Parts: sequence; structure tokens; C-alpha cells
Amino acid sequence: MNMSSSRKRVFSGIRANARPHIGNYLGAIKGMLELQDKFDCIFAVVDLHTITTPYDTKTLRPMVKDIVLDYLGSGLDPKKCHIIIQSDLRAEHLELAYYLGTIYQVSRLEDLPTYKEKKAQHPDYVNMGLLYYPVLMAADILIYKAPLVPIGQDQEPHMEVAREMARKFNSMFGQTFPEPQSYKTPGQYVPSLFGEGKMSKTNGGTIILTDTLEEIKAILAKAVTDDGKGERFPEAGPAANLVTFVELFQGHDRAQQYRSEYKESGIKYQELKAELAEAIYKELAPIQERRKYFEAHPAEVETILEEGKTYAKTIADETLREVRSKMGL
Ligand code: ADP
Repeated sequence: MNMSSSRKRVFSGIRANARPHIGNYLGAIKGMLELQDKFDCIFAVVDLHTITTPYDTKTLRPMVKDIVLDYLGSGLDPKKCHIIIQSDLRAEHLELAYYLGTIYQVSRLEDLPTYKEKKAQHPDYVNMGLLYYPVLMAADILIYKAPLVPIGQDQEPHMEVAREMARKFNSMFGQTFPEPQSYKTPGQYVPSLFGEGKMSKTNGGTIILTDTLEEIKAILAKAVTDDGKGERFPEAGPAANLVTFVELFQGHDRAQQYRSEYKESGIKYQELKAELAEAIYKELAPIQERRKYFEAHPAEVETILEEGKTYAKTIADETLREVRSKMGL
């Protein structure tokens, strides 16, 4: 395997609360695919983050495995990158999270928009883990001293926390961590098809990587539309959202045509949706093919995860030794 540890390190992860959707794919996985060719990459299924919001104990493990298959299906190549399950390195990630938590202001965590959103979403489930989410995420990244993180725009507040923690730690105990920067793709913000905000696993109505053409068509059929016509192409709303999908799956020229049509004859959404469904499926079909291979070879997948765990543990242990020593422990 051609994996030199002198290359710049990259870390990213996806939660295991639901199957990854095309927002996760365009915003995060595509970035991972671009970076795996050049850098020393560790990509995780971050299951310890999943348990901060309501979840099902029976489906968590199968979901983790499904996401590993989605990663491999998407083209993450175990010859080029390492795939890990966060809870396989729970002792390491949680230990660093605790140390980082001791140098960070509680009020900063309480002020984060992501925390406030989750509190509003699950008022009966406001737990310490949820508040601690960005601390654990910083530990996930910093334990591998990764300066680069392919990640969607929604995670920017958490990336800022990770940078602040790196800075604070370095100033208190001496230069240890790089300040991680996010790596953005053109799909860094994929909107919801059903109204406000971004496409999210928790909002439902997502297109997942194993959806058939018929399933994609059925979801798009329910996507919100307007009358498709107006003086100026809107910056937000149904037309803007659907044309964003066109831009991401069919390219800029097709998107520009729809923007013109909006001001002239009007967009015929039924036709737009039919064409878009085909384009999305065309991108997902090879992912589904590759995924089937790994689904049929579970032992190979286990070996990939074992290798990832061993590789990641060596780095994590080294960072922890350094951190403990610098903190006087
Ligand atoms: P979700 O927010 O859907 O529950 P995660 O929190 O597991 O998913 O996010 C996994 C990755 O996918 C993160 O890098 C996140 O920024 C990215 N991501 C999530 N939703 C979107 C979206 N709608 N558009 C672009 N990237 C996204």
C-alpha cells in the first residue's frame, strides 16, 4: 500500500443516525474522494456522536455497517485511505475530548447555533453529550493532528470551536495541534427539497445513495414548487433549490437555461424533475454497483476496518502521550 505518513493528514466523519443522503455525499464524501488521492486520510463513522440525539440501540450497529458500505460504494478506496468506526477508538477519542473540555468555556458551547437547534428539536433530550458534541468533534480531528477536514457548510461553527481549542491548547501547553481548516466542495450546502434549511438526515425526505430511479422520482415528485415564473430568478425558495440540484447534478449550463426559462416561458417542473431524477440516478448507479460488491464480501470489509483501527490507534496513542505529558499528567 502506498501510504506515506509524511503526507498532510485529513480527517472527516459522518454520523450514524441515518443513511447518508445526497447532501452528505456532495458536501462531505465528494471532498473525501478528492482528497484521498493526495493525502493521508482517515474517514470515520462517528457513532459516539449519534447517541446524543434519540436513537435505536438495535439499529445502531447495522447502521454503522451500512454507512461503511456507503463509504466504500461511493469510492473511498482502502488502498488510498483508512476507514474507522469512532467507537473502535472510543478510549482515545473520549480521553482527548475530556482534556480539551477542560480548557474551553461552557458558555461558548451553549451559544452555538447547532446546539440551540438540537435543543429546540429535542426539548426532552437536552443532554451533556449534546453540549459536548463540538468538543468530541474537535478531539476526533485533533487526535490525528489533521489540518484539513472535508465537511459541509453547516459544520463551520464546530470547525471554529476546533480551531479555538487547538489555539488555546497550543498557547497553554506549547505548540501541539494544527488549526484545522475545512475543505469545501461545490455541494457544501445542499438545500432541503421540502422547504426551509439544508437537506438533513433528521428532516426526512432525503434521497439516499441506494435509492432506485423510481424512489428518486417519487421523492422529487413531492418536492415543493412554485409557479415557476417571475421577473427575476429568486435567490431562495423552491425554484432556487431545485435549480441548485440541477447545477450540482447536470451542470452550470443546464441550470442557467432554467434560470432564463424562469424569466421567459416559465419552468415546467414536471420535466425538470424527470430529467433531474435521471441525472441523480446516473451518479448513484455506479455507487450502488460497488456497494453490492462489498455487501457480498463482509470479511473484506472487516479487514478494512481492522487495518483502519490499527493505523489510527498508533497515531492517536502518540498524540495522547504527547498531550498527557504536556498537561503534566
Ligand atoms: P446530517 O447533518 O444530515 O445529520 P451529518 O451530521 O452526519 O449529517 O453530516 C455528515 C457530513 O455531511 C458533514 O460533513 C456535514 O457537513 C455534511 N452535510 C450534512 N448535510 C449536508 C447538506 N445538506 N449539504 C452539504 N453537506 C451536508
